[in-house]
Amino acid sequence: MSAKLIDGKAAAAALRGRIAIEVSRFRESIGRAPGLAVVLIGEHPPSNAYVRSKVKATREAGMESFEHRLPESIEQGELLALIDELNADPAVDGILVQLPLPPHIDERVIITRLSPDKDVDGFHPENAGRLAIGLHGFVPCTPLGCLMLLQQERGDLTGLDAIVVGRSNIVGKPMAQLLLQANCTVTIAHSRTRDLPAAVRRCDIVVAAVGRPELIRGDWLKPGSTVIDVGQERVELPDGSRKLLGDVAFDEAIEVAGAITPVPGGVGPMTIACLIRNTFVSAARRERFVYERSL
Ligand code: NAP
Repeated sequence: MSAKLIDGKAAAAALRGRIAIEVSRFRESIGRAPGLAVVLIGEHPPSNAYVRSKVKATREAGMESFEHRLPESIEQGELLALIDELNADPAVDGILVQLPLPPHIDERVIITRLSPDKDVDGFHPENAGRLAIGLHGFVPCTPLGCLMLLQQERGDLTGLDAIVVGRSNIVGKPMAQLLLQANCTVTIAHSRTRDLPAAVRRCDIVVAAVGRPELIRGDWLKPGSTVIDVGQERVELPDGSRKLLGDVAFDEAIEVAGAITPVPGGVGPMTIACLIRNTFVSAARRERFVYERSL
């Protein structure tokens, strides 16, 4: 058996297309474009690449992008002052502070300073709390994109057994909350889980967000399960070339799973599309703009 490939690129392109139509209606009606401010500190090459893709996608959707590239040496106080400015700026609907931050800056202090209404990454404790108790708020982009892919693939998820491997605040925990809201029976696994293969084998849905290349093997999977691979780690191969690998041993998993996301081309494009979505939704809320399409 060969699993179906879940095409995250196509799903992301479709979502971005729907958003672009709504952005154009928004601009006509409100007289301005939705705006996303992106703050990048230092010269961390992967962060630079993520920010470039996010800025490009923002502009392609017809939205305004405000880039703030700051030196590694910036003091925490200066960064907080910038966030205060962006919180107060009416042209800014969403603020994204690219992580990780340099060690002398406390990530929690920075995230907590963002206005929850502009926290399009969904990392502010208020948004995390809202998700936990089922109130509207911003949901982190990567888990939101994973949920969309799962619902596209399996429709109603009610009653399915799901496992999320990884319990980070930005992927694992919010993913588990979303699956719970979708009426799955959810297991959250982590580095102290006793028998991970057995826990994975019980589940219809596996979301892997670990950052350990190919940790999850094909023979751990329940036949026909749906596998969402969030992991993306660049590893050096014996011939010296570099390759992006997920948390799931893809060549093995494809023989057992019912459907699986590739790496790259699975979850990554959905993360960016959901950032654009959250920014548009923020602008629509702030301007009381009613949109028509399901986003
Ligand atoms: P993280 O903060 O490092 O969290 C990793 C989680 O995996 C932790 O909860 C850890 O458990 C758990 N873990 C580590 N080793 C394990 C093991 N052997 N067995 C079971 N669980 C284990 O990572 P993250 O930020 O969530 O990211 C995870 C991966 O997703 C990374 O590869 C990252 O690059 C990728 N990612 C991709 C996107 C995208 O858009 N595609 C977005 C975000 C992240 P403990 O809590 O017990 O330590």
